Amino acid sequence: MKLTGKAARAAGGAGDGPAIILFGPQLGENVGQVARAMLNFGLGDLRLVRPRFGWPNAKAVAAAAGAHRVLNEMRICEGLEEAARDLHHLFATTARARELEKPVMTAEAAAALARRLHGEGRRVGVLFGPERSGLSNAELALADAIVSIPLNPDFSSLNLAQAVLLCAYEWFKTADHTPPVRGETAAGPPATKAELAAFLDFLVAELDRTGFFRSPTRRRSLIQTIRVMFERRRPTRPELNLLYGIVKQLAGHGGGDRSL
Ligand code: SAH
Repeated sequence: MKLTGKAARAAGGAGDGPAIILFGPQLGENVGQVARAMLNFGLGDLRLVRPRFGWPNAKAVAAAAGAHRVLNEMRICEGLEEAARDLHHLFATTARARELEKPVMTAEAAAALARRLHGEGRRVGVLFGPERSGLSNAELALADAIVSIPLNPDFSSLNLAQAVLLCAYEWFKTADHTPPVRGETAAGPPATKAELAAFLDFLVAELDRTGFFRSPTRRRSLIQTIRVMFERRRPTRPELNLLYGIVKQLAGHGGGDRSL
């Protein structure tokens, strides 16, 4: 499922992130809560392997709290091979460390790796086990890496949906949520350093010409202040053109020809 609009924006444009695979889930309400947690973090691709309850499931729908689109697009598979067929990399989650020849990592480290693989165009899946028993070695064997969320060693088993939520959260955090640089959109592209320097030369020349600076010492320090002020503000090209027009007008040049 490819998210669009708000959910994709919330995911930092990562609406086609990792698939979540639930192996043999026992409770419909957990599946609903998984769908909800996934949509909270912009994930949309949910796959169930041999759920132990009938589908559709009223408890799942109620627990999804509006994340219907994830349930509507969910796939139900006969086996793990089928659920993971189109994937390039599978993470399997478990509370208990096992003697397996696989890399074991935290959800945070797995999310960073998943983000890198995803950026290289590889499809990633994260596998979760049944509520009571967790994943067996047979399922873990299919995974490329094991994810174990560090918890209180004396009480380290999470609820299924909460385990999905933590993994989805770690994935979400790896996205670049930096808002677009102000000025690059509505106000136009930022002026280059050279364009800004040329404008400042022009401004200082006009200030010199109109006798603005009272003394050479004051001139030096004021020029420094003006430079710092404009560097911090980083005007856009259209803004610089406007400033050229304003200075020319005030300096009595009218519609002169100085601009970018
Ligand atoms: N009794 C089972 C727990 C199953 S909890 C056991 O001890 O293994 C259901 C699923 O949630 C697990 O199969 C796993 O996918 C996930 N999960 C629970 N706790 C986890 C943890 N600390 N780290 C990673 N995944 C966890």
